[in-house]
Amino acid sequence: MTIRSRYLCITIDTECDKGAGWKVEKPLGFAGVTDGLGQRLAPLFRAHRAKPTYLLSPEIMRHDESVALLRTLAKESDLGTHLHAELAEPGAYVPDETAAFQRDCSEDEERAKLTTLTDSFKSTFDRKPTCFRAGRFGVGKNSVPILESLGYEVESSVTPHMEWASAGAPGLDFRGAPTQPYHPDPNEPGRPGSSRMWEVPVTIRPSVLARVPIVGKLAEPRWLRPTRGTEESIVLVAKEELAAALAAAPERPAILCAMFHNVEIVPGKSPYAKNESEARAILSRLSALLSFCEREGVSVVGLSDLPEILAP
Ligand SMILES: [Zn+2]
Repeated sequence: MTIRSRYLCITIDTECDKGAGWKVEKPLGFAGVTDGLGQRLAPLFRAHRAKPTYLLSPEIMRHDESVALLRTLAKESDLGTHLHAELAEPGAYVPDETAAFQRDCSEDEERAKLTTLTDSFKSTFDRKPTCFRAGRFGVGKNSVPILESLGYEVESSVTPHMEWASAGAPGLDFRGAPTQPYHPDPNEPGRPGSSRMWEVPVTIRPSVLARVPIVGKLAEPRWLRPTRGTEESIVLVAKEELAAALAAAPERPAILCAMFHNVEIVPGKSPYAKNESEARAILSRLSALLSFCEREGVSVVGLSDLPEILAP
């Protein structure tokens, strides 16, 4: 009997420092990179022999100290891109909040901003990026064809069981999206279709109350995300998704995709950790997930590694 392969990607949206209410710190700050990646995350991933995936927002590649650190981390990490449209040329500016959904850009504007983001990654790291996530998960009907034309192989903005109308994006609706990787419809990333690239959805499980009438509609889906919850609850989401993937397709590798932001694990740089003990609690939940994967033989790989792993 063959042992079925199981993998975890830890994807980290990597951006400038924010604060309470996600307000962008001005002038731009990068403690979430220098302290967050350099002092907190990289040692933790090293201790667990895990390869993280840092998805880089445009402003990161304009900050010399962040770039120097990321060049050293590139040996032990996967790097990709992350679009916050306000911060990408052409027309880059520093907003009070990174609120844009790229699907609301015109096709030409979305293409132009993704092109400058991709080019700045290439000139910074001397290779092309192959994995991507939209800021605020805001992919739309033009995103996948543009990303494919720029050479991307993995898109990771789909959030199953979620819809984002109340966040300002009516119609950005991933309820019913698969929870395991698939080739997306070119114009509807939340549905399977004929695209060459892979969609790797963020691992999100329905609420345990989802099937209860009325109450179920209000209950929050559970993300594979260390931001909130307990060490037990994040491990439970991982276990459930692995079991569901195995039951649905026993012959395929099972993939988990955890996400959070670099700024979450540095005090005062996001709404999630006001102080050191809250930041440490997020790191402890991340560590619990990594320990579970070590015990269970789940390999922690980069998003860019998945096309080879998923190839038939
Ligand atoms: Zn972001």
